[in-house]
Amino acid sequence: CITDLCVGTNYLSIESGEWRVHAKASRKIDRVGTVISRNPPLAHSLLVDLESTCAYCFAKPPKLFRCSKCQTLRYCGRECQSKDFAQHKWECAYRSKRNGCSGGRWEDSTAEQHHQELILLLRTYGELQQCKKRKRDQCTKIDDLVQCGSHHWDEMVLAPKNREQSLTYSSLASVLTDVLPNSWLNPQHIEGVLRRFQANNFGIVNAMHATIGQGVYPHGALLNHSCDPNCLLRYREGTTMEIVTLRPIEAGEELTHSYVDLMKYTEQRSLELRNVHGFQCQCKRCKGEITVSLPELHQSSKLHRSTASIADLYKWIVDRSNPYVDSSSVLSSEVVDLEVEAAMKVYNKPDRIIDELDQQAQAFRCAADYHRANDDVEQEASALGQLVCLLEKACYAPLSMELYQARGDYLSSLLLTGNLSEARRQCTAIVAVLCLVFPSYHPLIGLQLFTLGDLEGACGDDLQKQQNIYKWARDVLRVSHGTQHDLVQHLDAQLQ
Ligand SMILES: [Zn+2]
Ligand SMILES: [Zn+2]
Ligand SMILES: [Zn+2]
Repeated sequence: CITDLCVGTNYLSIESGEWRVHAKASRKIDRVGTVISRNPPLAHSLLVDLESTCAYCFAKPPKLFRCSKCQTLRYCGRECQSKDFAQHKWECAYRSKRNGCSGGRWEDSTAEQHHQELILLLRTYGELQQCKKRKRDQCTKIDDLVQCGSHHWDEMVLAPKNREQSLTYSSLASVLTDVLPNSWLNPQHIEGVLRRFQANNFGIVNAMHATIGQGVYPHGALLNHSCDPNCLLRYREGTTMEIVTLRPIEAGEELTHSYVDLMKYTEQRSLELRNVHGFQCQCKRCKGEITVSLPELHQSSKLHRSTASIADLYKWIVDRSNPYVDSSSVLSSEVVDLEVEAAMKVYNKPDRIIDELDQQAQAFRCAADYHRANDDVEQEASALGQLVCLLEKACYAPLSMELYQARGDYLSSLLLTGNLSEARRQCTAIVAVLCLVFPSYHPLIGLQLFTLGDLEGACGDDLQKQQNIYKWARDVLRVSHGTQHDLVQHLDAQLQ
């Protein structure tokens, strides 16, 4: 049944080991950006903008039709609504009850907290009922569907549970018995399914890499995790998942993608992998053997922080990473004077910022939030600028995550206020950090390079430099978004 759900699987074979299932390349794949498989979701749900997005295909047409029963979901038209019928059936009952009721278990905070998971569970249940009707018996059980997470789950269930957790699952089960035709789920069952959902399901992202939905993709769930992955997942036509290669892969090599945000520190990544997915990552990055995705970078340079500014370091990293910039010219530059290797070692641990500085940073963040709430972009930008400045001095590693996040916020406010030269400086820094931490074809690198190219054009006079950045952006976006994507087409036009 799993193979029914996807096409283009001649690159992929499934192997069941003693305790885990994994996906392997069935032959050598040389080309970066090869689509290994294409999978529509078994079930999926929209998480944001319910008012303006079709709940089935995730399109945003000017006019949408509302489900007359629950009054919550909207569709492009009859076609999407009828395709969504099986999935929406029990969800609709749940939403209608929830909308119409006040008090009692419907205001239970546990159900509220697990609202999105319950929605996906009900949608999956509906879809599986439909499969049963079509006599596709092998995929009628949720347990089979998410089996590859079962060993993780067994381990987690063995761990002692506190009273609070048990109560959570009983109260979720009691909410569901009100909606489903019979008491299909007991608390143990729902706990098992929800934990497996957590470990195996996917956030669906849009072109800007923001999470807009969630889905059950049995085929995608077969890929194991690595902090230095050889594949990425992208979404087409709203919800269809594609597994795409990030580098050349040998026949028989295991296919992996990252389950966690690779911008997180090693400690944070392992905590999340243990708590949510139930395993300890054994990859080189977690064991401290490699610190970055560009290992050649720190071999090629011995840099000393004392003699160059952080801004120079960032420029150097960006030029060094750009395949369209002649690397000999970069290496001979006088900037090659910073200790990237040491910086990266520190990067993998959270910065220990002393309390006093931490309080100052918090004060700037509060000020920025306050000004944002009052629509005062100038003041917001100024507070964020002070925050970035403070963190640059306080963090030993110019690549600290706190600093990266602060820069992202600062860049957004600079674009609003029109301070483009400062925006270019911040954007360069962000690209540099992304290049060091993410695989070379990560969507965020492509998107950020697009912005950097625009800024280079707006405040630089070096047309060649802008073109080099756009070419690089296009190479990345072709893999991360697909060659037919609007962003790629836009860059094609710019580069003609
Ligand atoms: Zn639609
Ligand atoms: Zn409805
Ligand atoms: Zn790892």
